[in-house]
Amino acid sequence: MAPDTLDSIRRTIRDVPDFPKPGILFKDITPVLANPALLAQTIDGMIEATGITKVDKVVGIDARGFIFGALIAARLGAGFIPVRKKGKLPWQTRGVDYALEYGTNSVEMHLDAITPGETVLLADDLLATGGTAAAALHLIGQAGGRVLGSTFFIELAFLGGREKVSGPGPVHSLITY
Ligand code: AMP
Repeated sequence: MAPDTLDSIRRTIRDVPDFPKPGILFKDITPVLANPALLAQTIDGMIEATGITKVDKVVGIDARGFIFGALIAARLGAGFIPVRKKGKLPWQTRGVDYALEYGTNSVEMHLDAITPGETVLLADDLLATGGTAAAALHLIGQAGGRVLGSTFFIELAFLGGREKVSGPGPVHSLITY
């Protein structure tokens, strides 16, 4: 991606201090989504970074990962699979609990979402501590998916999440802080 395009995207991401709680600098990606050219360039950039041209399924994580994952899937001619917060998926699921700074969280995927041996790309808006993405990768692994890699719009590198998610395949991000 051209450096000035990357610059425009970076400048369009809005920093919101103390959201959703004091001390968190929230990266608001909605201004990027609202800009037709930047949205298309972001999706292309997130695909380009992986070098992947063909994959069976793209898995996106609740909720902003649905936006990026579904657009990436459509672009690659792949199916889209949602990993959702516990209790949201209507059919039979496989779930995993993971630790947060305080307490735990759970995510789930439908049992028939991935056929063993299918190739999978994981997509999400932001890699922070890596707990959420690692949980999604765990579910993909349990389903027999072959992870080709993970792609994030934003990576907060100072939180070290990359280490947690780099087992199954290479990790890519478009914008790093
Ligand atoms: P983590 O499991 O710590 O990697 O958190 C990842 C998820 O939390 C991502 O799907 C983001 O949507 C959200 N998230 C965490 N930190 C931020 C932040 N500073 N700004 C925006 N979203 C965040």
